[in-house]
Amino acid sequence: MDLPVFDGHNDAITRDDWEGIVTGRGGHWDLPRMRQGNVHAGIFAVFSPSEGLSWDRVARDDGATEFSPAAEVRCPDAIAYASAAAGRVLALERAGHLRVARGIADIDAAHANGALPTAVLHIEGAEAIDENLENLDLWYQAGLRSLGPVWSRANVFAHGVPFIFPSSPDIGPGLSDAGFRLVRRCAELGILVDLSHLNEAGFWDVAGMNAGPLVASHSAAHALCPASRNLTDRQLTEIGVSNGLVGIVFATEFLRPDFAEDADTPLQVIVEQIRYVSDLIGVEHVALGSDFDGAMVPEELGDVAGVPKLLAALADSGFSNEEIASIAWHNWRRVLDAWWR
Ligand SMILES: [Zn+2]
Repeated sequence: MDLPVFDGHNDAITRDDWEGIVTGRGGHWDLPRMRQGNVHAGIFAVFSPSEGLSWDRVARDDGATEFSPAAEVRCPDAIAYASAAAGRVLALERAGHLRVARGIADIDAAHANGALPTAVLHIEGAEAIDENLENLDLWYQAGLRSLGPVWSRANVFAHGVPFIFPSSPDIGPGLSDAGFRLVRRCAELGILVDLSHLNEAGFWDVAGMNAGPLVASHSAAHALCPASRNLTDRQLTEIGVSNGLVGIVFATEFLRPDFAEDADTPLQVIVEQIRYVSDLIGVEHVALGSDFDGAMVPEELGDVAGVPKLLAALADSGFSNEEIASIAWHNWRRVLDAWWR
């Protein structure tokens, strides 16, 4: 299938070999492979890593799998890291390699065949934003149009959900006062607020603000994989009620019932997640959020060039062309338009 695709989350710009994004490189994502996969646009994450992130397991006597908590990142460190990474995206735009989407017209232009690859600039974990939000306008002017208040760690705004399996996402407190102000100011400016990595208390705090449609850019259904990072049926239902969406993540551990990070995971588990969410809250509330370059994805899918295989698998499983076009593009277009206007 050669429908245009919008993908909700990649970590391409913070890979060490990011410079190869124009001509081709390792990993999951570069501009030539975007073209091969008909992935016309995507949300490009700027993620400031924690010092000493180890993925060591915490000993637990209940048999659950838990990874060591990620260290908090100081605002000055995150500003240095994130502004450099965002600068790379702007330099790619200046050189004519991609377009940075600043309004919905850019997304609509990206839908056309032959359009320039298009990036929505996103901050994953808002440590680079100061507590008084003084630099948020600067980020907006630079093209920031999407922001996740937290990665899976705490900051001054909220508490990210630690990686635990099996576990409820209901771990830790909700938004701080600064977190409420951040969400409100993002809504005023026209920056989408992304709920992936937020814990459940924070999710309900944002839901209660009616700031915009609820969006989890790269998550999956807790009913199929009971990991702390996934969304319960109650959360999914609220996302549907808000006219939001879930971008289904391709990271194998969040798709499978056993939390295994395993490249041999069949592509079909992504289809099953999409089917589950679609049956529960409607096909207009499910989309794609790969996490390419940020996770292990099914070998059968491979990389961004393999996305048409997923669309074909959706067709084989009974989704109509119109439904697949919604999942692949139009649902993302709707929520971006709602937050950006
Ligand atoms: Zn993530």
